[in-house]
Amino acid sequence: MCPSSTDAAHGRFAEMVIPADSIPDTMPARDARMPVLIGTAPGEAAAAVRELVVAIFGLGAVGRAVAIALARMGVERLLLDDPSSYKPESLLTQPIAVDDVGEHKAASTARFCKQLSPGTRVFYRIGRLEDIDVAGFRGVGAMVLATDNLRAEVAAAQLAVDADVPLIHAAVHGETLTAQVRYFSNAGPDSPCGVCQYGPAEWELLNRETRFSCEAAADVRPAASTSSAPTSSFSALCGLAADLATMQVLRGALGLGAPVADTMLEYNGYTHRTVISPLVRDPDCPVEHVTWTRAAASAPLPSCTLAGLLLDAGFQSSPRSIFRVEHMQFVATAICGNGHSQPLYQFVPQAAPIGRCRSCKLELVAHPLHAHCRAPEEVLRPLLDRPLGHLCSETPRWVVVQQGERAALFSQD
Ligand SMILES: [Zn+2]
Ligand SMILES: [Zn+2]
Repeated sequence: MCPSSTDAAHGRFAEMVIPADSIPDTMPARDARMPVLIGTAPGEAAAAVRELVVAIFGLGAVGRAVAIALARMGVERLLLDDPSSYKPESLLTQPIAVDDVGEHKAASTARFCKQLSPGTRVFYRIGRLEDIDVAGFRGVGAMVLATDNLRAEVAAAQLAVDADVPLIHAAVHGETLTAQVRYFSNAGPDSPCGVCQYGPAEWELLNRETRFSCEAAADVRPAASTSSAPTSSFSALCGLAADLATMQVLRGALGLGAPVADTMLEYNGYTHRTVISPLVRDPDCPVEHVTWTRAAASAPLPSCTLAGLLLDAGFQSSPRSIFRVEHMQFVATAICGNGHSQPLYQFVPQAAPIGRCRSCKLELVAHPLHAHCRAPEEVLRPLLDRPLGHLCSETPRWVVVQQGERAALFSQD
């Protein structure tokens, strides 16, 4: 058991550590098989690869293969995230050994990557993508998405836009033998995101919470409100999608060949053809296409006031200002089951208990009309000069201050 595994199980990235004496003396030199790429000087590609920091979401047949390929190249850092475990059916399509069945995908993949490349710092997290902490994303150069869950896809699209990181989305369609890799550059407000590509079918599925899967039929949880069949696939098709995605990571990072920004690459096993098509921005996309620029706060976050953060962001006070504190919501008024309401004026985690009613001692919840995940300055005006530490029920690790198309991210790290 890794010493930091409790962190990983609580939704935070933990570093995978393996005992030094478990690393064999026979480990090869990292670059012993590194090619001298055409158009680059000897050592140039190796140096660029060694600076790569890649986050991978979903560690099944596709994501695990990407992680392993990047570890073999000896990248600088990997962040691996998946909430689930390998099941017996995972053996049918996923690059695991029999011993990996029952293990958390994130921990198992992180351990294997660390064994393959002890010089790579490997972090892992066992949690839902939707709850990820953007503050931990400093330095990430690319995100790979290989999940079977549409809600996670939406969260990844928003995270990649917010964090200003290219997102490479790899997927397969088993019935048509199609492997697909989409590269979203997130290079500005006019760049498309994953959700820009959604049509009515995706929205309907999203609303029904259907899960797509690269795993075998027996492995798939029943969908919440639909009985549509899961996607099945050959392991070779998943592996192909993984290898194409890894190549897109490399091509994007090293600037090799034709630009990959905002393109979709599809290979079809029936036609034996590869098609590249552009990805376009949907002006009505519900994902907010605003990049969070990192900004420096003039004091540790708990001591900062919202008025101070506005100044640190270079903004004037304005009714257009919106504040976000992590995944907390600002609750102006709490209410109990008997309808008693009382003022709260605090940022609190969305699922956490708020306290008890002063009158009847029943549990309080956020009043739905007086709670804001994106709290406007108008609502916070009487509290703008109060330190964040007093305004939040937990120590805040990151805050976003936004005005229109501009947003500043302050994080504690
Ligand atoms: Zn979009
Ligand atoms: Zn009450």
